[in-house]
Amino acid sequence: MRLIAANWKMNKTVKETEDYINRFLQTFKPADDREVLICPPFTSLYVASRMLSNSPVKLGAQNCYYEKAGAFTGEVSLPMLKELGCSYVIVGHSERRHIFGESDELINKKVSACLEEGVRPILCVGEKLEDREAGMTFKVVETQVRLALSGLEDYVDQIDIAYEPVWAIGTGVPATPEDAVSVHRFIRDLLKDLNPRSEGKTRILYGGSVKPSNAREFMKHPEIGGLLVGSASLDPDSFAKIVESF
Ligand code: PEP
Repeated sequence: MRLIAANWKMNKTVKETEDYINRFLQTFKPADDREVLICPPFTSLYVASRMLSNSPVKLGAQNCYYEKAGAFTGEVSLPMLKELGCSYVIVGHSERRHIFGESDELINKKVSACLEEGVRPILCVGEKLEDREAGMTFKVVETQVRLALSGLEDYVDQIDIAYEPVWAIGTGVPATPEDAVSVHRFIRDLLKDLNPRSEGKTRILYGGSVKPSNAREFMKHPEIGGLLVGSASLDPDSFAKIVESF
């Protein structure tokens, strides 16, 4: 089943979350062949969890810490997220990597903690513009995937991966579907190499300037297992259109 995920980033107060979800639930038409996920900021998870509890829409977090509890000021643990009904966590988003300096080693610990707690991680990988221009796209993506999954190869079937080229995030300039497909195929082969038994069980999503007008172009390729949507998910009608676009 394909996954269409909304990453609200640091947007929406509790009141705005209520308005969004009320509107989204009125507009969106559930379908058996796709899973829909909303990842609000931490402060909105409680209200979102209550509002989505009787709907097929899943709830996820945008980040987590790998320890269960303790003296980690400002962090949020997986048991806390699970209690709120989060079944997914976005891990290693490019903004976490490049604004907050998250290392591959930290991302690996977060993926490991998610697996231990039974919360499905969506591992984000993607090259910067300078990497692409230097012909390093595959090398960068390979390194990110290998390090994030180091020691976790047996569990590759329990994660999803989002290929999000950094230069396409929030810029209005998406990758071409063909470029995305070639990286998706590369990641698929890499996963097979890491764990031949996991074949086909990890969804590989595309993210980066997806909007209602281009979502179908990506989703017509069977290699693309879903979409991770930032800016265009902030409006409930626009996100509903993306969910219904294929
Ligand atoms: C994202 O941040 O995950 C993302 C894909 O953002 P946008 O859709 O705004 O490019």
